[in-house]
Amino acid sequence: MARRLFHCPSCAHRLRFGAPVCGNCFQPTPIWNRRLPYWLAALVIPLLGLIVVAS
Ligand SMILES: [Zn+2]
Repeated sequence: MARRLFHCPSCAHRLRFGAPVCGNCFQPTPIWNRRLPYWLAALVIPLLGLIVVAS
């Protein structure tokens, strides 16, 4: 699976997936390059479990 999915919008450097800043120019990377926050996963996964159990 490819790990470098996106390019920096400022310098077109290939971004490491999950990196908060570009490795070349240190500009903030797009939000879709970030990993899913753990708090969001902790919130969503039990909800999905509830939906599966309830349906
Ligand atoms: Zn850059």
